[in-house]
Amino acid sequence: MKIISTVAQIESLLEEISKDQTIGFVPTMGALHEGHLSLIDRAKEEANICVCSIFVNPTQFNNTKDLNNYPHQLSEDLKLLEEKGCDVVFTPTKSEIYPDHYQSKSYNFGTLDKVMEGANRPGHFEGVAMVVSRLFDIVQPQKAFFGEKDYQQLAIIRSLVQQDHRPIQIIPCPIEREKDGLAMSSRNLRLNKAQRKAAARIYERISMVPELQKSHSIESVIKWIQDAFKDDADLKLEYFEISHAQSLEKSKKWADSAKHIACIAVYAGAIRLIDNILVEIN
Ligand code: AMP
Repeated sequence: MKIISTVAQIESLLEEISKDQTIGFVPTMGALHEGHLSLIDRAKEEANICVCSIFVNPTQFNNTKDLNNYPHQLSEDLKLLEEKGCDVVFTPTKSEIYPDHYQSKSYNFGTLDKVMEGANRPGHFEGVAMVVSRLFDIVQPQKAFFGEKDYQQLAIIRSLVQQDHRPIQIIPCPIEREKDGLAMSSRNLRLNKAQRKAAARIYERISMVPELQKSHSIESVIKWIQDAFKDDADLKLEYFEISHAQSLEKSKKWADSAKHIACIAVYAGAIRLIDNILVEIN
């Protein structure tokens, strides 16, 4: 496994690679868990060369405390990636990604960056688009792998690739969960014992939504979830929204779309956790 940290090193690597080989790219912020590793497995299946980046991107954090507390465990991450058979790990510094006077492109994401994470984390998706477009320019993958855990991010990246006319296939990968259903996340490392136990209730509750859909209106499903969190001393609901799975427009009636996405953000103490579940209408 090659570990490289400069753009120049990636450029010379790209020159060595023959034209018929495909690069599968997995961008991450490190503190890797089984969710990230499932993306590596998928990239290895679907491309010839698997490149994983580890870069905690400061421009996508709207909260400095969250950035400062973000877990770092590079040597552990490298061990996991080596075991998985990742070919190249790119661990750039901030100045390598954002050289002086770096000008980021601007995008129009329409509704996609205005709702849910976009509404609650001002500037977040601008930062995501900035780093992903820069990483795509550097790594030049044919395929890039993103988790459905960050469902809205996936929609943003698809739009970014379209707006830039990039020849990159975006491959969505399913959410990996702990045994009790909690979506795997690097932030779970920061949960204390009581918070970790409580956090399982997030998926426990949203996993009811597909069943509730059969007999309840969207409004009453939203109220059901809100009420469940009202009496929960350990978890504070930031938002729970049900949207059209493609456009992310707020859903008004189940019959208006074949697929809806129910998205949630919850605080366990100072730690912010997100999750989602697809609701298919038969
Ligand atoms: P992050 O390091 O949090 O930026 O995540 C890097 C990539 O891993 C993103 O595409 C995430 O959506 C994906 N990812 C994070 N957690 C999970 C999970 N539990 N299951 C599947 N993919 C995930």
